Amino acid sequence: MNVKHKVIIMRCDEYDPAKISNIVKKGMEELGVRPTGNILLKPNAVLAHPEVFPYAFTRAEFLDGVLSATKEMAADVREISVGERSGITIPTRFSFKMAGYNPVIKKHKAKAYYFDEVKQVPYKLKRNENLRENMFFPKPIVDCDFLINLPKFKAHPWCRLTLSLKNFIGIQDDRHRLVDHNIYLEHKIADLQEVIQPKFIAIDGIVAGQKMMLTPTPFNMGAIVMGTNSCAVDTVCCHMVHVDPKDLIHLRLASERGFGPMDINQIDVSGDFPLNEVREKTKNFEFCMEHIDSYFDKDCNLSCTVGAFPAAHSPDYCWGGCPGALQEAMHIFKAYYPNVYTDMKKIHYVVGKVEGPLNIQDDETVMFVGNCTSWEGNIDGEHVKIESSYKPPKAIDEKKTKSNDMVLKTASTLLNAFLKKNRRWIHVKGCTVSVAEHVHYFSMIGKTGNPLFDPRMIVPLNTSYYQMRANRFLNRFVG
Ligand code: SF4
Repeated sequence: MNVKHKVIIMRCDEYDPAKISNIVKKGMEELGVRPTGNILLKPNAVLAHPEVFPYAFTRAEFLDGVLSATKEMAADVREISVGERSGITIPTRFSFKMAGYNPVIKKHKAKAYYFDEVKQVPYKLKRNENLRENMFFPKPIVDCDFLINLPKFKAHPWCRLTLSLKNFIGIQDDRHRLVDHNIYLEHKIADLQEVIQPKFIAIDGIVAGQKMMLTPTPFNMGAIVMGTNSCAVDTVCCHMVHVDPKDLIHLRLASERGFGPMDINQIDVSGDFPLNEVREKTKNFEFCMEHIDSYFDKDCNLSCTVGAFPAAHSPDYCWGGCPGALQEAMHIFKAYYPNVYTDMKKIHYVVGKVEGPLNIQDDETVMFVGNCTSWEGNIDGEHVKIESSYKPPKAIDEKKTKSNDMVLKTASTLLNAFLKKNRRWIHVKGCTVSVAEHVHYFSMIGKTGNPLFDPRMIVPLNTSYYQMRANRFLNRFVG
């Protein structure tokens, strides 16, 4: 008979490092976990800022507690480190600083690995189902003996939830992370599981995040979820917030590939926070899985036309690409400028293959977004033909991808928007067009402020960027 995977749900209402350490240590004991060798802790620091992005990341107190427990439980340690790659173009050292990780890492004499600064090495994948045969990973991931995965419990507008499996998106640097981060995002997440499996998982569900991944609304869940198998942990977390695990597509794909169970009956759920009690508490936990053409209402100066998409598994919508990036970008604007929806200049956003006339108003600028977008028609008497340049995964060579450098991306998007500023329409290419690019284009075309140039961001962000560039250069010469 197969031994059931164990998942533990523990109560924890406050970010108290000592309390968290105690809970995690007991969890490790119950699960028979003994960290050893090169031990790498992978939090979710996709973006962090104490004022504007306070709920997007695994909290420093949580990391502190897990580091204490890890040190107590570990044997034959070569190194304890904390590694992560923040969201596209944001230097990871910026997020670590804003998340408050640096004093914690220093206190525990651990090492910080910013995955955008270290060597990237190829890794050969073996499964037939994978999108590609090779992927690139930061060297510390490939060298790791014992991965401890520390996700933040959050809803996600592209994938429904981000938990243990989805946290692996942060184990790739930008150049490789954006490859297949589009309509194939769920498949990519499943592929990533082949490079390494976490040997311990602790999810920060003390204050969980609802709806968005970068600007989530907080939900006082008061829980820490622990286990040793990502599929089992994610399955239990789905049940915690009334999601059918089959609807978490990357979980279904990973489970079908044999990475673990997605049937709650095959999982031994324990701890002092019964699942039924958690479910009672989360009855009103909120998600955002709406298509963009129905998401922005009549009080918003943004309207959207959504066409057809080029992948057989999802012809009616691109989850994982441009539409979700638009939603995230709009929520970021709202966090900085609460009246932006009505204050911005009118934009009509078009994505996918669209046929027939567009329903556009005289004062709207039309943004055709993404490589898969196509349309032909007249705007202000001008004949406009937007052609698709979309390429499926097999036609993309992962060894020849672009850098996605923050300064270059910023300069090129702002220049493109500036050069087209007197036109009624613009075509923004990319697959995916990232959240940051959406922010830049909307700030120029919508004539709003630019959150990335906000005084709270611009100095620390750019300081981190130039430190990142210098270290990335120096690390080329390190073995
Ligand atoms: S261009 Fe954008 S919307 Fe189209 S498939 Fe790529 S990510 Fe999706």
